[in-house]
Amino acid sequence: MIDAQGYAALDPTTPLAPFSFQRRALGERDVQIEILYCGVCHSDLHTARNEWNNTLYPSVPGHEIVGRVVAVGSAVSGFKVDDIAGVGCLVDSCRNCPSCGEGLEQYCENGFIGTYNGSAFGGSENTLGGYSDTIVVDEKYVLRISHTDNLAAVAPLLCAGITTYSPLRQWKVGPGQKVGVVGLGGLGHMAVKIANAMGAKVVLFTTSPDKKDDALRLGASEVVISKNRAEMASHANSFDFILNTVAAPHDLDAFVNLLKRDATMTLVGAPASPHPSPSVFGLIFKRRRIAGSLIGGIAETQEMLDFCAEHSIVADIEMIRMDEINQAYERMLKSDVKYRFVIDMATLKSA
Ligand code: NAP
Ligand code: ZN
Ligand code: ZN
Repeated sequence: MIDAQGYAALDPTTPLAPFSFQRRALGERDVQIEILYCGVCHSDLHTARNEWNNTLYPSVPGHEIVGRVVAVGSAVSGFKVDDIAGVGCLVDSCRNCPSCGEGLEQYCENGFIGTYNGSAFGGSENTLGGYSDTIVVDEKYVLRISHTDNLAAVAPLLCAGITTYSPLRQWKVGPGQKVGVVGLGGLGHMAVKIANAMGAKVVLFTTSPDKKDDALRLGASEVVISKNRAEMASHANSFDFILNTVAAPHDLDAFVNLLKRDATMTLVGAPASPHPSPSVFGLIFKRRRIAGSLIGGIAETQEMLDFCAEHSIVADIEMIRMDEINQAYERMLKSDVKYRFVIDMATLKSA
């Protein structure tokens, strides 16, 4: 076994605190990574506080991991010591079902194993994530990173990047399209950058008027304050696609009504309680759709990393110390993140 240090939640209400644990001994197909940076996703907060009622404690969150390879098993062929590598939201899946066969491990019929709060097949222990100094992962689930000059800002691509890239690709976003992004947080700001790089005209919907200039700088061509009815009405029936990243329940009809005939709004935000039920009429009169999308598979995550490297896309980050994580969560709840917290794991030792 390999000794590891991290930060864990021990129950839903106590702040995260230092935690010692062990990683599995290196298997022949395993890669051991020294974690340099880990992004802070809103899903970390949902999980640490058991907002989805499925958290196993102790819980070490973190699934936007980048670091340096420090050891490889005897059968590993894709990585060597000193490579820079990434780990995203999943660290294993059944490898046999139709979804795994299509490279869509996130939809594994037998349940993928999350980087944290996942349970090994048949096992009762939960996986522990990236708020830690080291991790051991099968090389099949490790990502290659080519843009290493701003590594901390690459970390958020491993969840916020792929979770927005995957639906933008699935719904074939591209030049000539008008695409809406709802919410300018970690996911939303990546969606603005990526949809813009794919050639779409991007309109950003926000509840925070002070984020307007940032949204334009990040690649939006227009910003709409979603609480302003007149501004919303001026966009009725005009969107080819809307990606909704909001982490809290809200009125979906306000956005459904902005879709063209046959267009889709895809939800990636995962609030702890349901949205108010959308109006059926908003859907049936224009054959509109509301859909959902979950992170992305390993092959598509690699494709996204390569796309972002090619287009020089990284996250806009605010670096924090490990012992600042609890304040970071409080700021996240106030939508006060510009636009992703990333933990400098070198600060773990002093924490
Ligand atoms: P985040 O950084 O906190 O951003 C969420 C944004 O939503 C906020 O910045 C805010 O943007 C907006 N917002 C928050 N409360 C709102 C409210 N009451 N009404 C309207 N807008 C509100 O969170 P994130 O890390 O991007 O994650 C967003 C959600 O996606 C979370 O629920 C997370 O668990 C989920 N998620 C899902 C997947 C997936 O696979 N589907 C993957 C990762 C994360 P404005 O200030 O611009 O309004
Ligand atoms: Zn995430
Ligand atoms: Zn499977």
